[in-house]
Amino acid sequence: MKTRLLLFFGLIMAQSLFAQQRTCGVHEATQAILNDPTQSAIYLENKARFEEEYQRVLSNLNRNGNVTNAANAITRIPVAVHYTTSSASLATATSGTNLSLRNCLIALAQTQINILNADYNATNADLNLWTNSQTGSSQFFPGVGIGDMDIQFEIATQNHPLGSGLAEGQPAVTFGYNFGAGQNRDANWTGYFNIVVRSLSGGILGFSPLGPPLNGFGVTIDNNYFSSGTGCSGTGSGSVIPTAPFNRGRTLTHEFGHFFNLDHTFDGCDGANCASSGDSVCDTPQTDTETYECPAADATFSTCTGEQVLTMNYMDYVDDACMYMFTTGQATRMTAWLNTVRSQIRPNALSDNSFVKNNFKIYPNPNKGTFTIEFKELLTDYSVEVFDITGRVVFENNYNENADLSQNVVLQNTTRGVYFVNVKTGNTIVTNKIIVE
Ligand SMILES: [Zn+2]
Repeated sequence: MKTRLLLFFGLIMAQSLFAQQRTCGVHEATQAILNDPTQSAIYLENKARFEEEYQRVLSNLNRNGNVTNAANAITRIPVAVHYTTSSASLATATSGTNLSLRNCLIALAQTQINILNADYNATNADLNLWTNSQTGSSQFFPGVGIGDMDIQFEIATQNHPLGSGLAEGQPAVTFGYNFGAGQNRDANWTGYFNIVVRSLSGGILGFSPLGPPLNGFGVTIDNNYFSSGTGCSGTGSGSVIPTAPFNRGRTLTHEFGHFFNLDHTFDGCDGANCASSGDSVCDTPQTDTETYECPAADATFSTCTGEQVLTMNYMDYVDDACMYMFTTGQATRMTAWLNTVRSQIRPNALSDNSFVKNNFKIYPNPNKGTFTIEFKELLTDYSVEVFDITGRVVFENNYNENADLSQNVVLQNTTRGVYFVNVKTGNTIVTNKIIVE
């Protein structure tokens, strides 16, 4: 008996060693705010304004059938990235290993920003796991639509906080800065969407408070789960190496979901009113049990209603490769939070000249496979890539910055449907959706 018990525990330990499970600290991070009388008052006041805005957006939604943010504009989100465990000497390096490491970490941050932009605008290539007409998981979730936020995360480049040591035009990426003296908020970085890269303990991959005001709060993420690719090896604790199965940058997609006031999809089962119980979003099935690893799309059932659980949602606990969508209901709730804090976003942190979604347009859209890309500002060479919903590339070309600021693109042999247009310049990728009819 004793031997069998030991064997049993041995198996459990082996399993937990080989299959690491996602854990996040949203509730602890939120409770920490509530424990601080000054911050609690500011937080609760912001939360009350959010609740009012959420009801307003929901009632508009009921009247109009869809939700759009003001004038269909893209909201630009100024981001600052803080590598707290890197050596502060990286900031001033002009040559050698330290310069290479700094450049690597800046590029790694941009890769993470590109992942956030794809995930929050529903232009992630693996969305075909949901939409594919034969095998897509959407077949198990009738009536559930994809959330698309119309936002553009950008690393801030100008009017940096005093004392940051950053020069005008440099990206807002800090090295060895003791953000918030170890706390989750740093008043110097008020008005930013802060990303704090730290070494976390206790198996937590990352954490964010739930829908905070923009007075210096950040989303915190462990060194091993930030961004994607081969990472950047520094000396000891300065290394940032994306580690499977959380190596596709989705931990930050999940944590920013909390920052934008989304709770876990498994947050409760009370069932009385889906707009105020559980995750307070009506198109995510109610359940109170998280899902780990990578289950088949139709393999997990709700603990309360028995219906299929939306395990592929960014706000569950599955592996990076197995989460690929927000719902329209979640996008509505996030939009209400963004509306609430919009006036708190630091002005002028983003250059008007930076290459952003605002600066190019595609017309006509919808089209018949022929369209024009027109740029307002163009500072470097760029490339254009068009791919379909399955990720198949149907067009690609590189252009010289001296080319016309208006570029005609003709797609050959395309069928009707949704296509994505990637415009790449430097490390930046901006994706737009077009419809070919
Ligand atoms: Zn979480």
